[in-house]
Amino acid sequence: MKIPRFLTGFARSLVFLFRRPIYVTLMGGPGAGKGTVAQSLAPQLGLAHLSTGALMRREVAQNTPLGQKIEKIMKAGKLVPDEIVFKLLEQELERPANWRGAILDGFPRTRAQAEWLSALFGKWYTRLTVAVQLEVSEADIIERLSGRRVCSNTTCGNTYHVKFNPPKNEGVCDKCKSALTQRADDKPEVVLARLVEYRAAQAPILEYYKHVGGLWSIHTTNANTPAQVLANVKSAVLASANR
Ligand code: AMP
Repeated sequence: MKIPRFLTGFARSLVFLFRRPIYVTLMGGPGAGKGTVAQSLAPQLGLAHLSTGALMRREVAQNTPLGQKIEKIMKAGKLVPDEIVFKLLEQELERPANWRGAILDGFPRTRAQAEWLSALFGKWYTRLTVAVQLEVSEADIIERLSGRRVCSNTTCGNTYHVKFNPPKNEGVCDKCKSALTQRADDKPEVVLARLVEYRAAQAPILEYYKHVGGLWSIHTTNANTPAQVLANVKSAVLASANR
């Protein structure tokens, strides 16, 4: 039986009243380490890890008409239109299993997306806990992306790096044993297009979060271990959740 939407909405508001959810946006250019941080931090804090990039890749893997449209956009290194991203993300956030909160990885990427998210949380009588910005130099990003490998099993989607975070067995996912692949959008020409698009979109989002409050910037380099970056992000989230 399908439960009416207004009833689940009411239940969610009640739950949020007694236990404020934790919502974190992890921002940073391609290869900034959003996925690596989120996949460790989410289980530690009991939160969902929602990567809009992974949601898009899941749709592509299903080879639906929508998936085919998304695939063309992603291959060109462009942003997927808001109405598609909003629909897929809202569906995930609405699932009761995700009511404790979520780490959003790769969202928002534009000011319009940031405003939409604030409006959605406002409708649910809650708010964004913190917007964490991972800052990395362009040279470090190129080194990271050229070695990044992802699990070909889209329901797993674990990410690795041939140098910084290698799997136990080369080319094989530690978690589900599927083959690892290089993402089509990690190819150098697509990476450059993504960096240009990211920089243009980033400034207004940072302005927005500076204006509404709750922006936390963390500078990382390839000399930092994933554990150090994770510890910094975790401190930022916990300090903001207790505000
Ligand atoms: P990511 O895995 O976060 O690097 O995202 C991979 C690709 O998915 C991006 O280059 C975009 O084409 C698309 N995508 C992911 N998140 C968003 C978003 N918030 N808005 C629009 N497109 C997105």
